[in-house]
Amino acid sequence: MKANRVHNFSAGPAALPLSVLEEIQESFLNFNNSGMSITEVSHRSKWFDDVINDAIERTKRLLKLDDNFEVLFIQGGASMQFCMIPMNFLHGNKTADYVDTGTWSTKAIKEARIQGKTVHVASSSEDKNYSYIPKDIEFTDNAVYAHITSNNTIKGTQWSNFPDTGNVPIVCDMSSDIMSRSFDPSPFGFIFAGAQKNIGPSGVCMAIIRKDMLDLVPEELPTMLKYTTFASKKSMFNTPPCFAIYTIQLVLKWLEESIGGLEKMEILNQEKARHLYDFMDSGDFYKATTEKDSRSLMNVTFRLHDEALEKHFVEEAIENDLNGLKGHSSVGGCRASIYNATTMDSVKALTDYMKHFESKNG
Ligand code: PMP
Repeated sequence: MKANRVHNFSAGPAALPLSVLEEIQESFLNFNNSGMSITEVSHRSKWFDDVINDAIERTKRLLKLDDNFEVLFIQGGASMQFCMIPMNFLHGNKTADYVDTGTWSTKAIKEARIQGKTVHVASSSEDKNYSYIPKDIEFTDNAVYAHITSNNTIKGTQWSNFPDTGNVPIVCDMSSDIMSRSFDPSPFGFIFAGAQKNIGPSGVCMAIIRKDMLDLVPEELPTMLKYTTFASKKSMFNTPPCFAIYTIQLVLKWLEESIGGLEKMEILNQEKARHLYDFMDSGDFYKATTEKDSRSLMNVTFRLHDEALEKHFVEEAIENDLNGLKGHSSVGGCRASIYNATTMDSVKALTDYMKHFESKNG
């Protein structure tokens, strides 16, 4: 580990690849021989145009998106999408299906209902405290879309396979697992992800829209709340979050050129998660809070057999350069977020610490 850097298990903002941070540092005062920082160049300049174009092209290549999809960058975080999605797509007496897998999908449902939209909760895992991903869901045939949260950052669950929604386009919150694995994009009408977990800093949400979904957007919406504005102006109707988009571009370059694409990234993510879950399953001191077939490869949520030890566990971890292991305040317990940029070395440092802590307190 480099001097002064810790093992970062934060849920977001989260670890970024060290090489990306170094590249930012290196070019910070003089971006691409412009004599200016990326935070100083005009968003209408060729310098920034190259950045955003490259970020879009890399996104398309990595996710295998054909020309039916547009890649957009929108401010307001993933939370803004909870409100924009029904505002843009759901009208009149039409219905949208939502699968409620905990905090973030619950919030998405709430934001649609605030607007008086018709939301059908097709399934929910609330009965077991959101510790699993529902199966055999009956989606509404003529729903405008079916909303799911691919990875549940707080509850620690993840869809290992996406559900069959028939002809209904999937709208998916991929905030905490975008670019962590490969998948077939064809059933998706809209994908969105707050950048601050797997692809960059906070301040921007990546949105991927299938072009036919743009036909649903009403003309009369405010300009900045319409996906058509972002699509027709390459996300630059107004000043975009240039620095955040630049960092995303570098992270995507790292994914393509250093990691070798999403299939490779997925294998690394599986190995890291397996190492951690296998260790926890091998004893009874630590206990994963999720059902085995629903476990997230990104956010590993767990409790200690003696919950009174958890505070001590998290504090002593910080003393050992292991940061961000406290569970979300709404659920308590512990959580290790092991996104793309968290290395196997960090995960091994964590299990070493866990063994040590168990031997002292077990
Ligand atoms: N969805 C998911 C799955 C998340 O994990 C988060 C943030 N933790 C959000 C939505 C909200 O994102 P933001 O803070 O960018 O609004």
